[in-house]
Amino acid sequence: MRNLDSLSLDKAVFELSEAISPKIECTDCGNCCKSLMVNIDEAEANHLSAHLGQSREEFDAKYLEKGESGRMVVNAIPCHFLVGNSCSVYSHRFAGCKEFPAFHVPEFKKRMFTTYMHYDRCPIIFNVMETLKSNLEFQATK
Ligand code: SF4
Ligand code: SF4
Repeated sequence: MRNLDSLSLDKAVFELSEAISPKIECTDCGNCCKSLMVNIDEAEANHLSAHLGQSREEFDAKYLEKGESGRMVVNAIPCHFLVGNSCSVYSHRFAGCKEFPAFHVPEFKKRMFTTYMHYDRCPIIFNVMETLKSNLEFQATK
């Protein structure tokens, strides 16, 4: 198997993601919205509550769970805003939603384990990683 340094690996997964993502319809899938916990911050909560015409009190009570550290997550899995397989607030969705599966984010090597955790959930991840393995002539050791 060929080895890549961290920068080359980032470039390889980014380029594969750019090539593969357009071939996969997220609106036919929605698996991340059906199964992942979404972290959000104050600015995002303000933005979406304003878009929905709700006060922050209403919005927070309906949609959020808050931890002691101030961490906020959407309080339902699947996400409240998923309708069918599509996001009903797509242009106002949270940063974490836009980022997933994050092949554009540097230092992929450090996120490899968490990426594999979504292997059977996200067809983009599956195809990027399988193509990468093939390109690097990966072979499982016995
Ligand atoms: S806000 Fe939209 S994109 Fe984000 S998890 Fe919910 S349904 Fe999915
Ligand atoms: S799991 Fe992957 S392919 Fe499915 S909707 Fe989410 S990002 Fe798109």
